[in-house]
Amino acid sequence: MSEQTPRSVLVTGGARGIGAAIVEEFLARGDKVASASTSGRAPGGALGIACDVTDAASVDAAFAAAEEAHGPVEVVVANAGITKDTLVLRMSEADFDAVVDVNLKGAFHVAKRASRGMLRLRRGRLIFIGSVVGLYGSPGQVNYAATKSGLVGMARSLTRELGGRGITANVVAPGFIETDMTAVLGEEQVAGYRAAIPSGRLGLPAEVASAVAFLASPEAGYISGAVLPVDGGLGMGH
Ligand code: NDP
Repeated sequence: MSEQTPRSVLVTGGARGIGAAIVEEFLARGDKVASASTSGRAPGGALGIACDVTDAASVDAAFAAAEEAHGPVEVVVANAGITKDTLVLRMSEADFDAVVDVNLKGAFHVAKRASRGMLRLRRGRLIFIGSVVGLYGSPGQVNYAATKSGLVGMARSLTRELGGRGITANVVAPGFIETDMTAVLGEEQVAGYRAAIPSGRLGLPAEVASAVAFLASPEAGYISGAVLPVDGGLGMGH
């Protein structure tokens, strides 16, 4: 790939948390960045687009807006995600479906729309934000963990479909990162996680963003179908 900056980058859920850190990382590297999220908010310097990833037409419109502003999208980060945690016996069909719709089907909408332009360009980087729990498992997260391991199968299948056209597809699997998503956890729960993490601390959104930027960089051109953990060692061996 040409891999010259500025590239046109689209991040879903770039309004806050890990997504916002990813947007900022690409901006700092000189790229043109669009964030597609429910609110349409985005860090300063990025194009904010209101988008619901569960709706294919909304995703299509978000790509069209990014393409109009920044040119063909070369780097896509499927980051938008939600949790609806509860133990399996209490998990409703609605809790399961909502998480699958955003985390897995949303990523499918994004990857499908992105691959159209990338095939034309004959280059591209698809990066999915998975989770340590996708392979490690997590009580109370049957829905969420299933979607995150699903992203591994998605990225690996995309690698096999599109790898010959200069397109890579990888998963970044964060551990516990300090964002709104983990701010709802109780003190005791956080202390338990901290004790289980070899690094002894939660991670920062910027630490996930650097891994994403690496996978989008020229240096990572031969890495595809990989799961890159950013978890302080929590998921080692999984
Ligand atoms: P946040 O809850 O802080 O942010 C989630 C982002 O997703 C928001 O920008 C939100 O948009 C957007 N979003 C949610 N639903 C939709 C939707 N239907 N359509 C478009 N955008 C949507 O999450 P985090 O930053 O913590 O997590 C980001 C990703 O990282 C997720 O995929 C999560 O599963 C994953 N992850 C997080 C970990 C953590 O410890 N925090 C650990 C492992 C993985 P808006 O702001 O506009 O509402």
